[in-house]
Amino acid sequence: MVPAPYDLGREELDRLLDGQPGFRARQVWEGLHARVLRPAEMTDLPAPLRALLAEALPPALEEVSRRSADEGQTIKWLWALHDGAQVETVLMHYPDRVTVCVSTQAGCAMACQFCATGQAGFQRQLSAGEIVEQVAEAMRAARPRRLSNVVFMGMGEPLANYDRVWSAVRRLHGDMGLSARHLTLSTVGVVPGIHRLAAESLPVNLAVSLHAANDEKRDILVPLNRRYPLSVLADACAHYVEATRRRLSIEWAMIHDVNDQGSDAVELAHFARPLGAHVNLIPLNPTPGYAVRGSTARRVREFRDQLETLGVNATVRMTRGAEIDAACGQLAASVTRGRLSP
Ligand code: SAH
Repeated sequence: MVPAPYDLGREELDRLLDGQPGFRARQVWEGLHARVLRPAEMTDLPAPLRALLAEALPPALEEVSRRSADEGQTIKWLWALHDGAQVETVLMHYPDRVTVCVSTQAGCAMACQFCATGQAGFQRQLSAGEIVEQVAEAMRAARPRRLSNVVFMGMGEPLANYDRVWSAVRRLHGDMGLSARHLTLSTVGVVPGIHRLAAESLPVNLAVSLHAANDEKRDILVPLNRRYPLSVLADACAHYVEATRRRLSIEWAMIHDVNDQGSDAVELAHFARPLGAHVNLIPLNPTPGYAVRGSTARRVREFRDQLETLGVNATVRMTRGAEIDAACGQLAASVTRGRLSP
């Protein structure tokens, strides 16, 4: 199998360029990472070498479709990987930042009820290079603006693919110049992964997708809760906050009459306050496999105000790209959906 360009390590590149002048490997490495060029675009290389590299290092992502929304400010790609698996990536332009949301797995095994990827099931882990290349493509598409933020909130559970995700993080930070503070991993609550993250030296952000703060309710919405119940998750979060001194975020998809009542806000505050966590409220986006509606805009505002009264900072997250199924929880490659849905 041909390696994905961004799965190649520095030594492998040296080997690939064996016989070339010593400076070539650094030139190609910088071309791929710092300048985000495809081999064919590296015009500072002799043409035969360029051609050889283009042949040896074809892209890992093949564009199946590319759609845009929000007047071009949101772009969603569907990519095919070498084995036919498909994943999606979303690029979002904001006035003050440019953010890409990347997938870390093809499909997802976490089976959260209301999430389109979870409804489709798990296919396979992405390699580090497949994750990095999503960012590289977004950087290219963002030009002339500079991509500033990466959120690991696309398809898949990042902490269930820890080693590859972390190797992607290191590449983005060390070679592509992204600040660790602008990288955010989002997890449904994979407790061993949170403990590992607490011990890492790069200060990336952590977001925990909570959605319910009592075990009975969370067991249903987020089945992984049966394995790592709230008390265990809270301990892991406390460890992370203590070890990193980073502020934790909690994600809460607002679901009509399911988790948007006063008692839900009280339970959430009880979980979030001791951790000093910031809560992001995401109005539920519709998905084919979950018939419940999102909360009304008014209920979302009231819930936020209630959290503030209870001493918890909360913001309502703007939804982007809903009309092209690019919003939170809507990512599901159509082929995957057709094949794996019940
Ligand atoms: N597996 C990771 C990252 C991917 S999901 C995680 O769960 O955190 C990114 C975010 O979108 C999570 O907070 C997830 O709970 C949320 N989400 C999933 N489905 C959604 C939906 N239908 N509407 C709104 N948010 C949703």
